[in-house]
Amino acid sequence: PLSALDRLRADLAGIALADDQASIRMASRDFFWFSPILKVELDGKHADLVAMPRSKDELARIAAACARHRVPLTIRGGGTGNYGQAVPLAGGLIVDMRKFDRMVFARRGAARFEAGANMLDIDKALDPHGQELRFHPSTRAQATLGGFVAGGAAGAGSCTWGQIDNLGAVTALEVMTVEAEPKLIELRGNDILKVMHAYGVNGIITEVEVPTAPAHDWAERIVTFDNFMAAARFGQAFTECDGLAKKLVSIHDPRIGPYLRRLQPYLDKDRAFAVLMISEPQADTLDLLIADHAGKVTFRRGAEEAKAVAFGTHKERGGPGPLYEYTWNHTTLHAMKMDPSITYLQLRYPPPDSLKLIAWAEQQFHDDVYLHLEFQRRHGQVVPSSLPLVKYTTRERLERIMAEATAAGIQVSNPHTYVLNNAGWKQIKAPQPEFKRLADPHGLMNPGKLLGWEAASQEAAE
Ligand code: FAD
Repeated sequence: PLSALDRLRADLAGIALADDQASIRMASRDFFWFSPILKVELDGKHADLVAMPRSKDELARIAAACARHRVPLTIRGGGTGNYGQAVPLAGGLIVDMRKFDRMVFARRGAARFEAGANMLDIDKALDPHGQELRFHPSTRAQATLGGFVAGGAAGAGSCTWGQIDNLGAVTALEVMTVEAEPKLIELRGNDILKVMHAYGVNGIITEVEVPTAPAHDWAERIVTFDNFMAAARFGQAFTECDGLAKKLVSIHDPRIGPYLRRLQPYLDKDRAFAVLMISEPQADTLDLLIADHAGKVTFRRGAEEAKAVAFGTHKERGGPGPLYEYTWNHTTLHAMKMDPSITYLQLRYPPPDSLKLIAWAEQQFHDDVYLHLEFQRRHGQVVPSSLPLVKYTTRERLERIMAEATAAGIQVSNPHTYVLNNAGWKQIKAPQPEFKRLADPHGLMNPGKLLGWEAASQEAAE
């Protein structure tokens, strides 16, 4: 007799599929290996088949066939998530969204794209309209818009525009249900939170509508400071300075410098440093603020060249590449390349005592935690967040750092779990399990990531 998978395959005739070992392995992994804990838990998990739909019709055929044959499916964008969000725990089908990537519309202040659109490609498409995404993760070159909404948080631009779950960050999501006759549901307003950061457990995001920002000519700077707290105070002041249009405020412990090989010519040993993006016409004004904080500018790149480097139209030999690719969780990537024993945490220092909390964390965890700060502006306040490097020893030590930080008033999101309920990133009070019953009635989407669902459906069955 034919297996469910064989029947699925027959139903998907004409859609691009792959089931060779290399494709399956590649499509079944993300960047969970940043975590020594997830590495053990998730290594070797894989799907049985990969599909690459190009249209909504193909996507609907996939959703219907999975529902009919009860085959689990895991949606995948760029596959750059850090928590194993896109790793299939129960085999089945991976749906690679990257060919589902058209622009629906762009106008001043708004744009709508199919969910598989790559974020760098989106900015290239918006550029002729004088617009850009308000913010993007440092994985702009790989990540998809749908993957960012379903599994990401913030990035370059968040120093002005905040985080993905803040009211106003996403205007609308179109979601496809996984059932014999898939439906399209348009979510707007607070309903967006039902599927935001839900790891694709409750519907396939098909289109994303976001507000856009006027594109600036972003110049890049590296600035060094006497010590970490001096750099942190500068970061706070710069982010507070609403009159300066900025895209990146990233502050680093001097000990991180040696891991960022291509930045070496611009870093001084023993000096903390800031990685910045500033609207070019205001770069001279920024120099005043830098001088106030006794900073020393060691790298200046004009906006035209910075954009050409990011857009890939200017290839530099041995140059640093886009500076945002040293910040956010790219810092961890660079560090792990040189020292595989490194991992990271996710911390946020709530106002009004952000700088005090940072100073406390720097002292308290000095020996095995190297801080870098990614400044955000949220709800009218400056909120430094950070993805500090941790010299990993044991799980107990990692948990103790998180517990001590929490007790001190620092907000911790544990990145070492693939279970949505444990992540703590969002205590969003959104009815995700309820929406899952509607959008994924057979419980086929990314099984094992949302525990409340399994418990609730078991209760219902009993
Ligand atoms: P994927 O990893 O493919 O998917 C993420 C989750 O979303 C999965 O659960 C998947 O099932 C689900 N999903 C994907 N597409 C859909 C869809 N259409 N419908 C429903 N569910 C879907 N994150 C940040 O927020 N900010 C950063 O600055 C940042 N920096 C990073 C740096 C590095 C080096 C790395 C490795 C990761 C970083 N991340 C960062 C994490 C990640 O890159 C981003 O969150 C990114 O936006 C994820 O997009 P993706 O397309 O790769 O998603």
